[in-house]
Amino acid sequence: MAEFDYDLFVIGAGSGGVRAARTAAATGARVAIAEDRYLGGTCVNVGCVPKKLYSYAAHFHEAFEDSAGFGWQLAEAPRFDWATLRDNKIAEIKRLNGIYGRLLDNADVRLINGRARVVDAHTVEVDGESISAEKILVAVGGWPWVPDFPGREHVLDSNRVFDLDEFPKRFLVLGGGYIAVEFASIFNGLGSDAHLVYRGELFLRGFDHEVREFTRDEMAKKGVNLHFETTIEGIEKRDDGLAVTLTNGETLVVDTVLAATGRRPNLRGLGLDQLDIALNPDGTIKVNDRYETSVPSILALGDVTGGPELTPVALAEAMHMVQHHFTANPPGPLDYRNIATAVFCHPNIGTVGLSEEAARAEYEAVSIYTADFRPMKHTLSGSDERCLMKLVVDEASDRVLGAHMVGEEAGEVIQGIAIAVRAGLTKSDFDATVGIHPTGAEEFVTMRTPTRR
Ligand code: NDP
Repeated sequence: MAEFDYDLFVIGAGSGGVRAARTAAATGARVAIAEDRYLGGTCVNVGCVPKKLYSYAAHFHEAFEDSAGFGWQLAEAPRFDWATLRDNKIAEIKRLNGIYGRLLDNADVRLINGRARVVDAHTVEVDGESISAEKILVAVGGWPWVPDFPGREHVLDSNRVFDLDEFPKRFLVLGGGYIAVEFASIFNGLGSDAHLVYRGELFLRGFDHEVREFTRDEMAKKGVNLHFETTIEGIEKRDDGLAVTLTNGETLVVDTVLAATGRRPNLRGLGLDQLDIALNPDGTIKVNDRYETSVPSILALGDVTGGPELTPVALAEAMHMVQHHFTANPPGPLDYRNIATAVFCHPNIGTVGLSEEAARAEYEAVSIYTADFRPMKHTLSGSDERCLMKLVVDEASDRVLGAHMVGEEAGEVIQGIAIAVRAGLTKSDFDATVGIHPTGAEEFVTMRTPTRR
């Protein structure tokens, strides 16, 4: 008889947990997974998926306006119905939850609906049931964090913003990261008077500076009200809405305030403190290349470990972890360099590799190639939206160190370019690639003269 009830017990059925459970089960491991909320975790339920659906909805606004120059006449002014979008989104997420359940079922993974607590290095407890496992995987993700200020109770976090009863005609988001710029763009596109309040000089810290400036200008052109170098001092609920006082003295009256001020590991009640599991300084779980914590039979991956908080990273980590612990061919460490990412603000940002600033800090000499242009579509649409494309090149090796884009479908374009950057291809390889005409993306293979060195 086996020593443990399971070979792997996964806590958290989000992107990383479900992928780990299914992949481990496919190797023949006996796997159970506990989830106390919703299948699919943040990404499926209150993150990537509903956000992208809302971003699509918001883009129609411009599409209607752009269509006139191409001869389309709308019989009446388009009207947006929030309840239709929200409820269709809810139905789609329900469908995806079902798919996740079936995937686990088909993989012979036992799903337990409940919050698991780690009791010791090989035991968890869920709803009074004690279960032993050779390995326990903590994949509980993160939880939105909201700073403290008077009136904080009036603020929504990103878990709650999707299902608002009423559409906010006046919307304010606090923060300058992914979620802040995406939701400012979404509600602006859907028709809100949208405000973004960020404490720093310019949002999207860590992204290429030129990309940040370009995005700021494009978002402002689209009507997002940007308030930099200020933050929320307090919020008062009044008859006419939420009066948000900023530290710069300004007061904005809005219907909804979203705090997009980062996420923290969701470790409460998990019992890890009893086991003295080592944490990183930011409170995330410390793991080695094999995703082992300081208690080697307890593993962790995804957002809870403090790496890039991105679904594809959690998926890659899950598959890596399974190769390490459940196959005879353990791989080398996962390569975290050159992970491409997109920010679904409007226009979208797509980026891979080093920013110009990071490249200058690391390499002796870099050449910068940029194209800043009005996309062909807007010659007839009349829109003043522009597109930015940028390559960062190491002069010594000619290698493309970074590629950045702000413009329509930037994520789709950069996903392809990411393969070339990861493969270490040179600017000469880009130049030798014949473009696809007429596209915007062809600029990536036709930029010949450096903008600066
Ligand atoms: P981020 O960490 O990206 O940004 C947090 C923002 O809040 C920063 O601008 C930060 O400012 C600001 N902030 C932090 N503390 C305070 C405070 N006390 N007062 C005022 N402002 C504060 O977090 P998000 O919540 O936007 O998103 C969480 C993560 O989810 C992202 O980092 C990303 O990895 C992931 N995500 C990915 C998406 C994608 O792939 N498209 C979409 C959405 C989320 P400062 O910069 O000055 O520190």
